[in-house]
Amino acid sequence: MTTSTRPKPDTVLLGADAEARRALETEVAAADIGAHLEARDEGERVVSHLFECLRPGYAGWRWSVTIARASRQKDITVDEMVLIPGPDAITAPAWVPYKDRIKPGDLSPGDLLPVEEDDPRIAPTYLIGDDAIDPLGRQDIAQIRQVADELGLGRVRTLSREGIDEAAERWYAGDGGPAAPIAQSAPDHCYSCAFLVRLSGRLAHTFGVCANGNANDDGRVVTFNHGCGAHSEAQLSKKQKPLPLPDHVFDTVTTDDLESF
Ligand code: SF4
Repeated sequence: MTTSTRPKPDTVLLGADAEARRALETEVAAADIGAHLEARDEGERVVSHLFECLRPGYAGWRWSVTIARASRQKDITVDEMVLIPGPDAITAPAWVPYKDRIKPGDLSPGDLLPVEEDDPRIAPTYLIGDDAIDPLGRQDIAQIRQVADELGLGRVRTLSREGIDEAAERWYAGDGGPAAPIAQSAPDHCYSCAFLVRLSGRLAHTFGVCANGNANDDGRVVTFNHGCGAHSEAQLSKKQKPLPLPDHVFDTVTTDDLESF
């Protein structure tokens, strides 16, 4: 087994902070250079000297001057001079790709958000089929659909299993799921509500669309175990019903002021 031993730091270079500062002053105004902070051993006969940066707007940044020396030579050469951030420097936040910054609701009319070729949420229809699993078990219909799709009569791509799972998890955990506050106090679940429109395909066993124009979830996907107070079978309790009003009385005895004109 071989072990690599790191060469000792070059003492000549470690002590050459004055030379490094002089080199830096040829490029940067002396007033922008602060105290010598440290000398970093970068490798065999290579050292970086760090100086405080006093330039306005660069709090926490450092000038770094890297110097080197050839073997058995006393002359020092300057490799590079750069400005680098220290631990307390204000730096730009990490770059986030555009596609990862987009959130639901960010798209405006006319905006385009193309799907990437290798997006795992969708797959060629000839691999997956288009709703090839019929929730009612009508295999013949499912097979006819699949053949039609293979002949190019359907969509080019459709949701992959991963895409379906992602959507199901998102919907289940969202405002149309069982944990939504409105569902917690609902008289009954969407499953038994007349306003639930069932989906087809793999999501049909758990999700439907609410079609009650008076409900908060009208037009949205809801889980079967979601619910709300606008459930089709919801009834007011006796206490909640308005008090019955007495019948109208037709007064045939006294005369109204208007009648006397
Ligand atoms: S009205 Fe309420 S209970 Fe009925 S489907 Fe819509 S959300 Fe579900």
